[in-house]
Amino acid sequence: MNADTPTLEVQNLQTHFFTKAGVVKAVNDVSFTVKKGEVLGLVGESGSGKSVTGFSILGLIDLPGRIVGGSIKYNGRDMTNLPEREWRDLRGKKIAMIFQDPMMTLNPVLRVDTQMIEAITAHDSSVSKDEARQRCRDALGQVGIPSPDERLKSYPHQFSGGMRQRVAIAIALLNKPDLIIADEPTTALDVTIQAQILFEAQKLAQETGTALIWITHDLTVVAGLADRICVMYAGKIVEQGEINEVLDNPLHPYTQGLIGSVPSRNKRGSALYQIPGMTPSLIKLPSGCAFRERCSQAIEKCRETPEVIRPSEGRAVRCCRVSQDGVSL
Ligand code: ADP
Ligand code: MG
Repeated sequence: MNADTPTLEVQNLQTHFFTKAGVVKAVNDVSFTVKKGEVLGLVGESGSGKSVTGFSILGLIDLPGRIVGGSIKYNGRDMTNLPEREWRDLRGKKIAMIFQDPMMTLNPVLRVDTQMIEAITAHDSSVSKDEARQRCRDALGQVGIPSPDERLKSYPHQFSGGMRQRVAIAIALLNKPDLIIADEPTTALDVTIQAQILFEAQKLAQETGTALIWITHDLTVVAGLADRICVMYAGKIVEQGEINEVLDNPLHPYTQGLIGSVPSRNKRGSALYQIPGMTPSLIKLPSGCAFRERCSQAIEKCRETPEVIRPSEGRAVRCCRVSQDGVSL
């Protein structure tokens, strides 16, 4: 593996659900890469396909869903058709997921130390109990949990919601994964705790080289945390790039709308801007640009499917109104 090989390369990923009502094109031609130590924010309204993207990367798509196209490469290795047994080895060890609900990770009837030690020894039986316990202490410390020794003896219900999520995050860190996918893990927490967890996550990425994908519907969450941002709409990434470039100069009208609806950017007291309309059904997507009907800048050309424009290195946008050099018509 070349040192420049990205930790994750997703190319033209398509994940569809074959339901009685029709084919749900939840992820429809998604491409992005995440480098070592990089934090990628994946942002979009509810139902835009963020979670399905995360689950696809972890090999967790079940029927009626299926990856129908594209490829997922992890450290240069194609994982698209990896057998489930090999997935199990990777998940939790090399690739970890943090879910919105920490109880997706935690077992309510087991003490925290039992679960954490198991998470280590399941992937490496040569680790001694003492060594494993020390790693658990370190991981709890890393997410800001005081008196780890005492906390290790507790059951999940003895923690507050915020602390429980920190324990779930600590479990994700235990095996020093190369890639962590965090799916709205802080949405239920108060703002101060959110900020603290985000800060810890960013620090971790910088210190250990772990690549991090932070999924959220809230642009403000990733604004101060991510290196890069992917904006997702109706199963596609409509804009991506380095975070400050995108925030300072959003090219896609949807990104512009998201930024415009962030409270701090509006004058206090005035009504908050909201993008009009609703996300289209992913079963019956309109032809052409899927955002067309909600877009105040739409023109006749938007009835055609927009191609991906790459105005500069690492920047991509899907909008008919954007020219090759990144200028809006
Ligand atoms: P987000 O995380 O951005 O809110 P999701 O990735 O969860 O959105 O969902 C994207 C689309 O995929 C939604 O329209 C959702 O209804 C659909 N979807 C997700 N899981 C399934 C499933 N198991 N069966 C059918 N449709 C699904
Ligand atoms: Mg989701």
